Amino acid sequence: MRNPHAGEPFDTPDGEIAEALLDVSIPTLLLSLVHMSGDPSIIRGRLRPAGLFLNEVQGYLSEEDKAEARALALEVIRDYRDRGCPEPEPVSAGLLHEMMTWLVCEDVPEEYVPLLMEEMELDGRDARRVDPVGDPAERAAFPVVVIGCGQSGLLAGIRLQEAGIPFTIVEKNAGVGGTWWENSYPGARVDVGNHFYCYSFEPSDHWTEYFARQPELQRYFQSVMDKYGIGPHVRWETEVLGAEWDEASATWSVRTRAADGTEDVLVARAVVSAVGQLNRPHVPAIEGADTFAGPAFHSARWDHGVDLAGRRVAMIGAGASGFQIAPTIAPEVGHLTVFQRTAQWMFPNPNYHAAVGPGVRWALRHLPFYGRWYRFLIFWPGCDKGLEAARVDPDYPDQQRAVSEMNDLTRQMFTDWIVGQIGDDPDLIAKVVPDYPATGKRTLQDNGAWLGALTRDDVDLVRTPIDHIEPDAVVTVDGGRHEADVLVYATGFRATEALYPMTVVGRDGVELRAMWGERPAAYLGITVPGFPNFFCMYGPGTNLAHGGSLIFHSECQMRYITRCLEALVTGGHRTMEPRPDRYEDWHERSQRELAGLVWSQPSIRHSFFKNSAGEIHGLSPWRLVDYWSWTKEPDLADFVIA
Ligand SMILES: Cc1cc2nc3c(=O)[nH]c(=O)nc-3n(C[C@H](O)[C@H](O)[C@H](O)COP(=O)(O)OP(=O)(O)OC[C@H]3O[C@@H](n4cnc5c(N)ncnc54)[C@H](O)[C@@H]3O)c2cc1C
Repeated sequence: MRNPHAGEPFDTPDGEIAEALLDVSIPTLLLSLVHMSGDPSIIRGRLRPAGLFLNEVQGYLSEEDKAEARALALEVIRDYRDRGCPEPEPVSAGLLHEMMTWLVCEDVPEEYVPLLMEEMELDGRDARRVDPVGDPAERAAFPVVVIGCGQSGLLAGIRLQEAGIPFTIVEKNAGVGGTWWENSYPGARVDVGNHFYCYSFEPSDHWTEYFARQPELQRYFQSVMDKYGIGPHVRWETEVLGAEWDEASATWSVRTRAADGTEDVLVARAVVSAVGQLNRPHVPAIEGADTFAGPAFHSARWDHGVDLAGRRVAMIGAGASGFQIAPTIAPEVGHLTVFQRTAQWMFPNPNYHAAVGPGVRWALRHLPFYGRWYRFLIFWPGCDKGLEAARVDPDYPDQQRAVSEMNDLTRQMFTDWIVGQIGDDPDLIAKVVPDYPATGKRTLQDNGAWLGALTRDDVDLVRTPIDHIEPDAVVTVDGGRHEADVLVYATGFRATEALYPMTVVGRDGVELRAMWGERPAAYLGITVPGFPNFFCMYGPGTNLAHGGSLIFHSECQMRYITRCLEALVTGGHRTMEPRPDRYEDWHERSQRELAGLVWSQPSIRHSFFKNSAGEIHGLSPWRLVDYWSWTKEPDLADFVIA
């Protein structure tokens, strides 16, 4: 069978190929030519990318160099087409490493190569796929309940199906996608490039935008669900209220409540919690909020029945969601008032709203491994680079401004980007340039839309704290009365309350959230002592602020979980849970690492990463390459297995 990443054979005429090449990433194209021709000299000459920057996919090549590369490409592609588009011969490991290094303009350390090979699947093999576990009778006796059907829960279903383990997914919504089901607010889109923010084994050449909007993301997860036949395993519109461990039978009783109020109990040998960290809306308690006369809703519960045209909208909160909402609704509403507690740092990204041109889509579909190298091109600068940039240099002066020299340079670059857009309006500059170190909170992607919205006459940015809400206005502490017909809460999620509001009772009647308090932890973000056969995806300590995609993390977690289940099933064991010392050591080390990273800076007072004591327990301080290698295979010595 043809390697699925070798591209579909084509007979496209020369003129159309030349047209397509006007669109594509030239460095990625040149690597595809190496596969097509088998000739490495293509990347050993003068034509080579000059540098790398996140979302810069042309390697800073000059127009002349790009034209030269396209002319060369046309020749090679024409020859390849005329030979009938044969599947390219595999490339040697040495040449692959050379190609990686060439593309990202720096040596790719050896320790990353196996991870990248797995991510890129150049051999056409999904190395994270699992084989059936144990014999059919053993598997049948090991039903698993998965809580949630976002990207994590869906992935869990796919892998459990491959493993032959019976499973039920319980999902409180009526459809798949989690975040991408619920967040249908105007302007909702991903801010990690989609050619990476997708399953490694289900890459897609169909994205219509580089940073797709919510409906397209939701459709993607739906199509993956349909392809793998996961739908029939899901109980939709059913919420898990809690789960209780029974020692005698070594089972979990998972309590559910359907939309009609009917309660049920599912008995499982293992539970996979895939409830997300950003799934439960946070609405701040503001005096008088319930007296507001008009429609009021949270961004994740957008009321599409409310016509905003010509109306006065007050949006409370402008973090990641509000940042996308404001520019989208500003042209439509009568007046928009944005209440923002903290200004946001933003990453310049001119491609943020750009469409994927037809040429790129043609290349993704037909040119051998173009899509895989493109994935790598986005992955690499967004991989572990951000972690180094987030590290605090304790000797760096004025930590309120920047935590290291690199962080100061980033601050300068971000500040130039902001100020460059708004000119010399000192009042606005004071409001929109953050007063904390760059990247200290979730850094947003920006193409100018946000500041474009704020400089409109019919949009006001209010940084003064809110005092109370009246039936037709939001009133700030300085007495300012901001009239409104509609209230939007873009106030984020209960991100620090892991697994809220479920009640999970483990061994000896210990309730998980009570045990955690405000300090949730799990060994590798996955398992917790006293909670046998209970596994988390996107659990405590696994959110990513330094780069990467959470889908990558989910794939690491699910491989680990599947291997744990395999150990249980084939070993004839009843239970496994992490040794308390491993769990504590993990949490302690994670906390120590986090303390040395910019997100922990005390000058960042309001951050959804922080609990009420200013500590961070949701984020990962680890390099992706480390997390990948630690979760590749469970070390059974880390567990108490019975
Ligand atoms: C607006 C927004 C934008 C984001 N943008 C990005 C981005 O650009 N890049 C990125 O990497 N990440 C982004 N994220 C983070 C995003 O949450 C993850 O990327 C990813 O979608 C998480 O998938 P998940 O399946 O783990 O969790 P979720 O997508 O949150 O899915 C959890 C699922 O569990 C269900 N569930 C929860 N509790 C229960 C229960 N008790 N019973 C039954 N079902 C339950 C929920 O209904 C939901 O379907 C964003 C998040 C938000 C909110």
